[in-house]
Amino acid sequence: MRPLVAGNWKMNGLDSALAELGALRQRLAQAPVPEAEIMVCPPATLLARAREVLAGSDIELGAQDCHPLVSGAHTGDISAEMLADAGATAVIVGHSERRIDHGEPDSLVNAKALAAYRAGLTAIICIGETEAQHRDGETLDVLKRQLRGSVPEEARAANTVIAYEPVWAIGSGLTPTPADVAEVHGFIRGVLSQLLGQNESGAMRLLYGGSVKPANAAELLFVPDVNGALVGGASLKADDFYAIIEVY
Ligand code: PEP
Repeated sequence: MRPLVAGNWKMNGLDSALAELGALRQRLAQAPVPEAEIMVCPPATLLARAREVLAGSDIELGAQDCHPLVSGAHTGDISAEMLADAGATAVIVGHSERRIDHGEPDSLVNAKALAAYRAGLTAIICIGETEAQHRDGETLDVLKRQLRGSVPEEARAANTVIAYEPVWAIGSGLTPTPADVAEVHGFIRGVLSQLLGQNESGAMRLLYGGSVKPANAAELLFVPDVNGALVGGASLKADDFYAIIEVY
């Protein structure tokens, strides 16, 4: 299965990120990494400009969130169809920062994934336990609940990517051990198999996310059942993001 390395810019990118994206594009043109699919997910306002920077390259564009509906009286929201119109081929849903900052429950994440499918986008569905849940030994229970609630019955390997992002690892410099990542990803694959059947589960890409950096990418990305990475901070610098992609 071809791994996916996706960069989540979060609410960053007004300053140098488009120039860095241009540099990444150039770097990949000079030294391609065909083994990996590469995606960047800028804020929605930068999608059109990022699309111009990437015109003619293989780097894909994703968005960071969408509304479940196509259109209507939802001030400030953006539909999956609008993201597709702006050039996105994927959208992150259920990121822990949205679950926590905006109180998004699994049912809403599920509806957003369905909106992604409706618009022809791949849904990158994020799950992950908090530090307290991790400490209390609840990780697998939390992940099972999130998968059952957030992953629609319609999810297929062709339209869905699951990103496991322990909340305590995001932006903290902390990461689980490779053995813990292997255990969790194997567990996720098993739950997906119960939900969607073995074929879809076996072919679905499971990303690890949380403080992936050039220094730890090799040890995290070759763990069994890890099929790529969702990268936050390190995706904003072309050198760092390329160094992560390059492990493939
Ligand atoms: C993220 O928030 O998706 C993420 C993985 O962030 P970071 O790499 O900065 O920990």
